[in-house]
Amino acid sequence: MLQSYFYVYSIMTLEKGDDMKSIFPRINNTTLDIKKNTRVISLINELKVKGILPIEELKYIIENISQNECQELFYIANMVKEKYYKKKVYLRALIEVSNYCKQGCFYCGINRDNKSIKRYRLSSSQIFDSVKNAYNLGYRTFVLQGGDDPLLSDEFIADILIKIKNIYPDTRITLSLGEKSQESYDKLKIAGADRYLLRHETASFKHYMHLHPRDMFYDNRIKCLHYLRGSKYQVGTGMMIGSPFQTSDSLVSDLMFLYKFQPEMIGIGPFIHHHDTPFKDYSDGGLYETLVMVALARIIVPKALIPATTALGSIISGGRELALKAGANVLMPNLGPEDKRELYSIYDNKITISDSDNEFKTKLENKLIKEGHIVDYSVGDHIDLEGVK
Ligand code: SF4
Repeated sequence: MLQSYFYVYSIMTLEKGDDMKSIFPRINNTTLDIKKNTRVISLINELKVKGILPIEELKYIIENISQNECQELFYIANMVKEKYYKKKVYLRALIEVSNYCKQGCFYCGINRDNKSIKRYRLSSSQIFDSVKNAYNLGYRTFVLQGGDDPLLSDEFIADILIKIKNIYPDTRITLSLGEKSQESYDKLKIAGADRYLLRHETASFKHYMHLHPRDMFYDNRIKCLHYLRGSKYQVGTGMMIGSPFQTSDSLVSDLMFLYKFQPEMIGIGPFIHHHDTPFKDYSDGGLYETLVMVALARIIVPKALIPATTALGSIISGGRELALKAGANVLMPNLGPEDKRELYSIYDNKITISDSDNEFKTKLENKLIKEGHIVDYSVGDHIDLEGVK
């Protein structure tokens, strides 16, 4: 009964939601000669000192920040990052292992209902070859990401984890394979996984219902994050910015959730539509809106590892570089088989790398160094866990 209510609720309200201007009404103000909003500036400074603010004050920042105050926010977020991680940018090798998915998230191009895409699942040896290539290029963290694919059994993944850790014990493995039972998370941890990424996507129950079909449950998502904590993973979560039906209240809920959960990793990217999804006609999230949330997340969870996401680089060239100056400190280049990279099409116009892995590595390193970063290929654990393993 409850389930059918949620289904009807989410379908009946599928209409064009608030666009980003109404969530961040002033963000695109580029009149740099107007007076800065001193209340926004003072709240940002207070946030840095206290670590969190009352809900109404966080909402005030979101609804009143313009580009005049963004520079201050980004500067503070960057200072917080440098306090713990200096100027380091950690490089992780991303390997997209499967684009099969049993879930039906309305925003995602590889959801189960999209019959137009070509599906693939890497074999054990393809995954291992990608890891080997990444290792030889210097990477010491491998991120195995995929849809919620029922055929990627615990045993299949565990065998790969054991093999990787036997041959490359000086590495870390991050998994991002969706919702599982506590038992499964335990099994994979014991087999060699160190970290797990599972974005909560939104901390608002109502918003969650707008983004997902009736057989997906907000409570289960949150429960899985607690399972992961219980299994002693370094846990990553995060959200999309500008997704349909998002409001300033739901963004504040996200920030409060991050503060309470204190994840070791936080992934934040803009919503980007995919042409074969129910959200195909919705506008994409914006650059500044996303950077503001990255910076606020950095101040609220100061020691988190925060990637400059591919989605940010996909909405605008140089988006990831800007995120690295607004609190982010991780990059995850795609090191999976070249012929599969385009098939992991979770949103339209996702950037893919055309250079060889080696050429890309050199160009990336040069670019990062030129911008004042320190390129770091080490395992790059969360600062509180350095040397623990
Ligand atoms: S967001 Fe993740 S769980 Fe949802 S459809 Fe896409 S791959 Fe599957």
